[in-house]
Amino acid sequence: MINLLPEMAEIWQQTVNWQPSVQQQAQFQRLYELILEGNRQLNLTRITDPQEFWEKHLWDSLRGIAPHGQFISSFQEGASAIDIGTGAGFPGIPLTITAPNCPITLMDSTRKKINFIEKVLTELALINAKTLVGRAEEIGQQTEHRQAYDIALIRAVGTASVCAEYTLPLVKQGGLAIIYRGNWTEDETTALENAVKQLGGVIELIEKFITPITKSIRHCIYLRKVTTTPVQFPRTTGVPAQKPL
Ligand code: SAH
Repeated sequence: MINLLPEMAEIWQQTVNWQPSVQQQAQFQRLYELILEGNRQLNLTRITDPQEFWEKHLWDSLRGIAPHGQFISSFQEGASAIDIGTGAGFPGIPLTITAPNCPITLMDSTRKKINFIEKVLTELALINAKTLVGRAEEIGQQTEHRQAYDIALIRAVGTASVCAEYTLPLVKQGGLAIIYRGNWTEDETTALENAVKQLGGVIELIEKFITPITKSIRHCIYLRKVTTTPVQFPRTTGVPAQKPL
């Protein structure tokens, strides 16, 4: 087989203090194969080289839930999470594989992507995740989902302020929103602070790190929800992106 993912046991150990089991490595490999296959019909990802897939999809997804290089401890205790705009399943599917005792919701506005995700969940025998088709602006106003999750994750969906408006309404008081970014500037911190305050959160940590193979810059922004999000958030579909807080 040409498209075999690297194992990278030592890098996993050094960067997130964890290593995949044989079963988890097999699930990563199957996920990779399904994405290569799915790419023929759906535009799932540009990243198809095995090393690059490992770094930009698997490692990047999991490093985000390991601030200071340590998996968030609530994932050992069955914390619930929602991945907003999961696309081909990032960061949500690597999390589902890594935290088999945690209920994970994989959400996207595109039905076709969710159909793909459902196939992946079946093929990988992942029973701790379920899917949800919808827009963050709508889901965030539904009582079933609003303030219902311990952790919300979001990668490559919009600017940080938009991501804050999509995530924080879904997070329980005391819970965490994690926004995945590439580069980050002081100006973005200022804009985000203003948005987060209106949404009932605080910026707890902005962590910069370097990816282990290509040495690219990444940031993860950790927002702690400290009080209830006012009912007007999230605003109706399209408004968060058109008029960012
Ligand atoms: N998180 C994945 C995919 C990013 S692409 C990754 O990092 O690889 C952005 C995805 O967000 C797309 O699949 C798109 O359908 C979805 N999306 C965009 N706006 C959304 C919204 N308001 N609510 C839910 N999903 C949204």
